[in-house]
Amino acid sequence: MHLETGKADQAFREEVADFLGQHLSQELRQAGRRTMGICSPHEASQAWQKILYAKGWAAPSWPVEHGGTGWTPMQRHIFATECHLADAPMLAPMGLEMVAPAIMGHGNEAQKSFYLPRILSAEDSWCQGYSEPGSGSDLASLQCRADKDGDDYIINGTKIWTTDAQYATRMFCLVRTSWEGKPQAGISFVLIDMDTPGITVEPIITLAGNHEVNQIFFDNVRVPQENCVGAENEGWAVAKYLLEFERGGRAWGARLRGAMTHLRQLAEARGMIEGIFAQRLAGLAAAAQAVEFTEQRVIAEMSATGRIGPASSMLKARAGTLVQEISEVAVEIIGNYAVPHQPAAREWGSNIEPIGRPDELTVVGHYLDFRARSIAGGSNEIQRNIMAKLVLGM
Ligand SMILES: Cc1cc2nc3c(=O)[nH]c(=O)nc-3n(C[C@H](O)[C@H](O)[C@H](O)COP(=O)(O)OP(=O)(O)OC[C@H]3O[C@@H](n4cnc5c(N)ncnc54)[C@H](O)[C@@H]3O)c2cc1C
Repeated sequence: MHLETGKADQAFREEVADFLGQHLSQELRQAGRRTMGICSPHEASQAWQKILYAKGWAAPSWPVEHGGTGWTPMQRHIFATECHLADAPMLAPMGLEMVAPAIMGHGNEAQKSFYLPRILSAEDSWCQGYSEPGSGSDLASLQCRADKDGDDYIINGTKIWTTDAQYATRMFCLVRTSWEGKPQAGISFVLIDMDTPGITVEPIITLAGNHEVNQIFFDNVRVPQENCVGAENEGWAVAKYLLEFERGGRAWGARLRGAMTHLRQLAEARGMIEGIFAQRLAGLAAAAQAVEFTEQRVIAEMSATGRIGPASSMLKARAGTLVQEISEVAVEIIGNYAVPHQPAAREWGSNIEPIGRPDELTVVGHYLDFRARSIAGGSNEIQRNIMAKLVLGM
């Protein structure tokens, strides 16, 4: 199966590769290689977004009228693939890929003209306030409340597992504005300035030793009602629309290809490419290629419908499991060198010498970090429920 057609795509790939060759410094590439979680270290991610913004390439999936590139779905895929293969830092998706489509699809003109340029230029950084301690998969049960007071809402409650809230200037947040009827019917989608008095961000350090997620507390936080996206109590539709974007469009094929290349390098460096390891590597490579083909099907669907659709659930669940499997084999390959786990040496700008080979530094971090992939962004079981219902029609 040839994933590309024609010379135009090839020429485009070369143009992208040239640009990356000229603009990706060694420091940025290192940050890309050492990425834990869903985005690269904040400083690197911001710096890279600003370079892309200057070129007009920060938001390939956006419509041209808002600053997008006008690329076809295949060109966007080529761009994401080349960025990944060149170790470009991964941009934070919360602004560019999550809240932006929601604002474009459901926001009013004032919201579009205020927020979208600031997202594009990286002036604002966003976090996603959906999950609560008692509401994750069953998101509609959320309790964080917004009560009306004059032209404002007064928000009280908590959000948890909030990625990069420590850097965020704004949050898109689901709050309960009504307790009547079905739980889904009383939810609103509001945009919150993280500097508002009454907001506390408490870090949660992950098993991998990273400060990626947080718990947020709201104590009488005053937010203008005009910050509601879509109609009040109709935030569920906005949230569902946005989740489709969260689960797709992440160049899974390229990521898996990169992970397999790294795995092969590790195996070769330790002379472990014979026998049983060769079989395991071949099995993983075949599975990674199958994900890449699935991704092509999702791109084809996007080209036809303009939406990512429920197949994005399939992609997320399978690719997430596969990166876990690849990271398990990587830990086996480096053996004893998995013991000295060095999270501080992976940090942006760190001058701590890695113990062992430099390309082994991320192995344990990825192994631990990838455990969260079966949960983050909607657990695998929930993705399978979506597939059963919407893809298989069960
Ligand atoms: C690294 C990381 C980053 C995250 N970042 C964010 C963020 O930025 N913003 C945000 O809002 N949230 C974030 N989350 C939260 C994430 O969306 C939730 O963890 C996820 O939706 C699962 O919810 P939960 O943790 O409450 O688990 P639960 O919903 O309690 O699930 C526990 C287990 O039960 C299973 N289960 C639950 N319901 C069903 C069902 N109906 N059928 C079958 N099995 C079921 C689940 O699959 C899971 O295995 C993040 C999570 C992680 C791990």
